[in-house]
Amino acid sequence: MSLREPALLGRLKAQIAQDGPISVPEYFTRCLHDPRDGYYANRPALGSEGDFITAPGVSQMFGELIGLWLMETWDRMGRPAPFRLVEMGPGDGTLMSDVLRAARLLPAFLEAADLWLVEVSPVLRAAQKDKLAGVSVSWAGRLEEVPADAPLLLVANELLDCLPARQFVKTEGGWAERVVGLGEDGELAFGLRSLSPPPLGEAARRAGGGAVSAAASDILKSLPPPSASPTPPPWGEDLPAGAILESSPAQAALGSELGHRLARDGGAALLIDYGRAAPEAGDTLQALRAHQKEGPLDNPGQADLTVWADFPSVLDAARQAGAAAPPVIGQGDFLRALGIEARAQALAAARPDRADTLARQLDRLTGAAQMGDLFKVACLSAPGLNPPLFEDEA
Ligand code: SAH
Repeated sequence: MSLREPALLGRLKAQIAQDGPISVPEYFTRCLHDPRDGYYANRPALGSEGDFITAPGVSQMFGELIGLWLMETWDRMGRPAPFRLVEMGPGDGTLMSDVLRAARLLPAFLEAADLWLVEVSPVLRAAQKDKLAGVSVSWAGRLEEVPADAPLLLVANELLDCLPARQFVKTEGGWAERVVGLGEDGELAFGLRSLSPPPLGEAARRAGGGAVSAAASDILKSLPPPSASPTPPPWGEDLPAGAILESSPAQAALGSELGHRLARDGGAALLIDYGRAAPEAGDTLQALRAHQKEGPLDNPGQADLTVWADFPSVLDAARQAGAAAPPVIGQGDFLRALGIEARAQALAAARPDRADTLARQLDRLTGAAQMGDLFKVACLSAPGLNPPLFEDEA
């Protein structure tokens, strides 16, 4: 093994030493998407051998039922042809391959679908190409590259959690933004940047409890003047010192972009992820490598970094853009309502030797202690469309 520092760590430390601490979203984005050393540039590894496993990797039933939902929604849209069938962040292509298999039930759906995958990672694009060999697919780096002027049916599983959040820490002197700087030992360390004048006093520097490292006060000394732009959400006023709030402009921007597009072109988008259904304080920044949690600063570029999906702000942004965005549904309830239990029984009847495995898969996807409650399904749609399970109450 080389004793040299992994390249991204060295470059981040040099940059911070020269220009000062960086925000959590900047750190997050460099770790995931640095063109040379970022996690998604090199080594995104899904599945049991990799760093993390997602619902499509747990069971084919997940993608099949999403396929069913998409077909039913397309039917409610009046069966437009063509329509853009889009997956954002398709990983290794498993979900779309299961969707397309289920869609063989409705050949007209497949004929009308113009399939687009929105993917930034060259490594994952290659995996998707393999998995979907023989299918006509176009790739885009961003949603806006997918041609407009046709209705959209979009799915994104575990994409929101890849879009970073700013983190705000309540101190006795007011709100501060959590930043990544260098500690006394020269290693990466979390610190605070004051947001609101007056600048943080000594008491405020000590506040924050275990939430911030001891290096915070050193970092504070070298900080540029407070910037007025980022602000914590207003509902955080009454939280005690030490509380951490997250706010994700990137997630809200996706909600807004989808909302505009759906309101204009028609269609619906399903966003599935672990996250909060209502505003809630807490630090959800997490690093996973080989299925183990580690410190987010431990191995920049080599671990998958995520934050919780902030559904309230995604839904708000979509509504403001003119789309319908009803409350989220737990993944367990969503899949049960689509008939996952009957599907599991049918698969088990055809393959009795797999009955135990199927029961385990069903529990993993829907069980309250597993993915069933933590994972949530949001549906954004053109007003009046009323997609299945997200109908207007009115
Ligand atoms: N949906 C897949 C993979 C989830 S991993 C599954 O459920 O298994 C996250 C996916 O989002 C990867 O495909 C990753 O390359 C992609 N991604 C990450 N950041 C992105 C961004 N900013 N824009 C588009 N895709 C992104």
